[in-house]
Amino acid sequence: MSRATKIVATLGPASSDPAVLERLLRAGVDVVRLNFSHGKAQDHIDRANLVRQCAARVGKPIALMADLQGPKIRVGKFAEGKVMLENGARFVLDAARTEPGDIDGVGLDYKELPRDVKPGDTLLLNDGLIVLTVDRVAGDQVHTLVKIGGELSNNKGINKQGGGLTAPALTAKDMEDIKTAMSFQCDYLAVSFPKNATDMEMARQLANVAGEPWRHKPAMIAKIERSEAIPHLDAILRASDGIMVARGDLAVEVGNATVPALQKKMIRMARELDKIAITATQMMESMILAPVPTRAEVSDVANAVLDGTDAVMLSAETAAGKYPVETVEQMAAIALEAERADEVRLDADFSNKQFGRIDQSIAMGALFTAHHLGCKAIIALTESGSTALWMSRHNIKVPIYGLTSQERSQSRMALYRNVRPILMANHSDRDQALAEAERLLVARNVLKPGDTYAITCGEPMGYPGGTNMLKVCRVG
Ligand code: PGA
Ligand code: MN
Repeated sequence: MSRATKIVATLGPASSDPAVLERLLRAGVDVVRLNFSHGKAQDHIDRANLVRQCAARVGKPIALMADLQGPKIRVGKFAEGKVMLENGARFVLDAARTEPGDIDGVGLDYKELPRDVKPGDTLLLNDGLIVLTVDRVAGDQVHTLVKIGGELSNNKGINKQGGGLTAPALTAKDMEDIKTAMSFQCDYLAVSFPKNATDMEMARQLANVAGEPWRHKPAMIAKIERSEAIPHLDAILRASDGIMVARGDLAVEVGNATVPALQKKMIRMARELDKIAITATQMMESMILAPVPTRAEVSDVANAVLDGTDAVMLSAETAAGKYPVETVEQMAAIALEAERADEVRLDADFSNKQFGRIDQSIAMGALFTAHHLGCKAIIALTESGSTALWMSRHNIKVPIYGLTSQERSQSRMALYRNVRPILMANHSDRDQALAEAERLLVARNVLKPGDTYAITCGEPMGYPGGTNMLKVCRVG
């Protein structure tokens, strides 16, 4: 049995060596995330090229996700790379500071911070590990008292408890980074800290314009990580192709205890609207330093799988951890076991679904048939990948194979739960295409003589949105 849940891994110093990257892909990574909070434009371009080269060598479709920094307020850099803040110490966040930080204070990426805070506010640094209380604001300087200290290193994030930062979702840097990400035609573009659907629409428009020379339109992922976004979830989902449950910043803004239920709700809403969901942050956190995860982390990954997430994400574990490959291996094993133990109740989920399109109804018909007949595979001949996406919004044990002649659809489908994307030559003749599809799956040992499978296609062949046929076949 192969794994349905996908793995997103963030690249960084621990994973940018071609040999390590190749091992990561082989260990189970499906989507590579380029984090624009770190590194220069050229670094991301080089890494994107490297990922595609490695993916070609490994022979596996990989989606590239560019993740914009957004208005996250971050500290600047330190002279020594980091400092150790002691409880009770004073620490100054200084928007005007240009020299590197030290034990007394540090510069800020986000220059508006002094205008957004007042005495008594709580600031949480490094995903809430360090807590500062605002003492006074003097011009560009925010004077704070260290309530809970710890190690603070370069460019760590700052959140204000309870939300309420005025920063717009797209900064000038993000707009430049969108152009960079489009220059290598990222498959997914993740937008940090959107407050509403308009933020996502704006980002999409900028990306589409920047992608025009290559006729490329990326799929848009809204990172849900600020309190203001929660009441607008439905509209944000409709304006996006998917969401990321960005638990790091989200937990700081809404409080840790609120996040698990929100995660379930967000994944459910995404699936109901035919959108993608990625569950992110601290999933295997202890493996940054240790060769095995904690029991709690194992449960966290398994529960996200049971919630129906498309993908589980690794951040520092693969970007800067000591055991990037082992982390992916173990995450893959946990996901696979959780899927195996999951009971599938297709029908209830299914009969509530509303749809009015021919292609969508064929997709649902294929699912229903394959589930009840116990087919070995569902094959979707799909130009855009949307037939495979619709199919994958329901829990089913039968693996879905998305066969497409479009390389971009192939890599985009790498993120869809339970979808195995395969590139196939373009056929104008239906029977040739059906025969070729069967041959491909037999060659991959997915199908053997006597197996049944369900296959969907559109006639005439080769047009996106044209799926209008379902056939159930037995391999001869
Ligand atoms: P980040 O987003 O890693 O870019 O901060 C994820 C999160 O906040 O959980
Ligand atoms: Mn975040």
